[in-house]
Amino acid sequence: MKAIQFIEPWSVKCVDVSLPEINQDEVLIKVKAVGVCGTDLELLSGDMPHIKNGFTKYPLIPGHEWAGEIVEVGNSVKSFNIGDRVTGDVSIGCGCCYICRTGRYNLCPNRVVVGSYRNKDGAYAEYLKMPERHLYKLPDNISYEEGALVEPAATSAYAVMKARIGLGEKVLVIGDGPIGQLAVQCAKIAGATKVINVGSWDEKLEVAKQLGADAALNYKKDDMVAAALELTNGEGVDTVIETSGNKIAFNQSIKSIRPGGKIALLSFYSETEISAAINNFIIKDAEMIGILASPNAFKPTLALMETGRINVKPLITHKFPLHQAEEALEMVRSKKECKIKVLLIP
Ligand SMILES: [Zn+2]
Ligand SMILES: [Zn+2]
Repeated sequence: MKAIQFIEPWSVKCVDVSLPEINQDEVLIKVKAVGVCGTDLELLSGDMPHIKNGFTKYPLIPGHEWAGEIVEVGNSVKSFNIGDRVTGDVSIGCGCCYICRTGRYNLCPNRVVVGSYRNKDGAYAEYLKMPERHLYKLPDNISYEEGALVEPAATSAYAVMKARIGLGEKVLVIGDGPIGQLAVQCAKIAGATKVINVGSWDEKLEVAKQLGADAALNYKKDDMVAAALELTNGEGVDTVIETSGNKIAFNQSIKSIRPGGKIALLSFYSETEISAAINNFIIKDAEMIGILASPNAFKPTLALMETGRINVKPLITHKFPLHQAEEALEMVRSKKECKIKVLLIP
């Protein structure tokens, strides 16, 4: 089959590899659509913590935001059949250890992560194998292309759930990319009454407004902290969802929350350590919440997409055939053109 490999930093190749062989608890999936994610670029540049700490090595097949059709099932697979339309978790736990048994399989010490951690082959390929226990059927009204956005939507949903965003909250979402856009939608669904989206592209901020943001501001023109305070009568927001991975944004998050507020962090920072106005954080008796992947969030996310409450369609701005992955990655990297989610179609 054809697959895209990252050979070394900044080297992308379309290669022929053998079809994955499935174990008895696995299925083989024909990939129909796969999203290009910021994480893929971190893997390509070598900046990804998993590359730096040796848990992921070149060459690797990336791609963790996918949807496809089952073409083969292992002998012990019970809940899925050939022809089923599916998507699946990004973290694959062992299913046996104590952490997995508490449901936190994104932290399993034996885990693999699709398209990265421990080199589990990803979905930048014609076929992908997955264990049955991490698969979800796509509702009939969700296309494969929309299905490729279940994973980022589930990440945003997990952040909103873990940050306990509740009725009447005021929320600042930093970042106008897919995760930020989906966090805006999930925060509104959770009951937030004022959601402010901050980004750098007016076109994307307009999309965020159409999809539910109550206010949107461009940090290149507006002072984010001043705006967050002004829009909350000087109190500060209840929760910040920080999706930008920018260390300045992290410090602005501390300034933007009210006393007792929360900051959920969804993006890796390129620096291993960043300095923070930590006393201000303590004085606010605030909470910081790390978000790794999307454990147990696919099912509610799919239900919200099926009923039209999460809308991913306007976020799909570009599509490339699989063999043009390099062009797609370059488009995402260069940030010259306005884009939200770029898909590869094998
Ligand atoms: Zn992703
Ligand atoms: Zn485990």
